Amino acid sequence: MIRIFEDLPVDAGFTCKPADGKVYRADLLKKAPVVRLSLVHGASVAVIRSIDPAGAPGFRADMDEDFLDVYDADGAVTDLPGVYLTTTHGDCVPIWVCDPVKGAVGLAHAGWRGTLAGIAGSLVRTMAAAYGSDPADLRAVIGPGIGACCFEVGPDVAEAFTDRFYWAEDYVYAYPDARPHVDLKGINAELLALEGVSGIEISPRCTCCEPERFWSHRRSGDKTRMLAFIEKRKE
Ligand SMILES: [Zn+2]
Repeated sequence: MIRIFEDLPVDAGFTCKPADGKVYRADLLKKAPVVRLSLVHGASVAVIRSIDPAGAPGFRADMDEDFLDVYDADGAVTDLPGVYLTTTHGDCVPIWVCDPVKGAVGLAHAGWRGTLAGIAGSLVRTMAAAYGSDPADLRAVIGPGIGACCFEVGPDVAEAFTDRFYWAEDYVYAYPDARPHVDLKGINAELLALEGVSGIEISPRCTCCEPERFWSHRRSGDKTRMLAFIEKRKE
């Protein structure tokens, strides 16, 4: 388990091997409500204002389990204490944010599509719109996730980034005899910085390079996932 924001009043982290992230999430459900995001590789961020499925747009109470499912979102924010936001990861990059001033937290799942769609900026703007967060007050952690070392892409994907973001050339590595590599963590950090976030920590850990620590879809086609989670602690 990698702990995130240990100095803040939150319970946040990222599960590691041998834990199965989905099993860990089911365990969390025994002690608190758990928001489960559907992960559609977009830039949509849900605002969790209530844990009552009936009263919360976007929720559908799952019939078999008691998770609070949010569809069509890769990110969520909340200022409700005692509620876990969760995303599952098989190489895609997690982004945690916490606003210690307004007492709000957020979490996003950023694969290449979500990164390209700008979910990192969307997460910050949603915090600002929902809770009046000043980006300068936010703390953010990016990763663990697949690193530029291992994230080889087709030329079309590399070009999509440089077409969309004029500064992305700094994070797209071209090689004469190999396919390009993309630094997803770096691009997400840049997107947070462009929104005015300065307290950004980037994990150097690569899920694909560290088979002893992480499951990885890219490396070995693992179906097991890591879980990223954050809960604003009850007072
Ligand atoms: Zn790597």
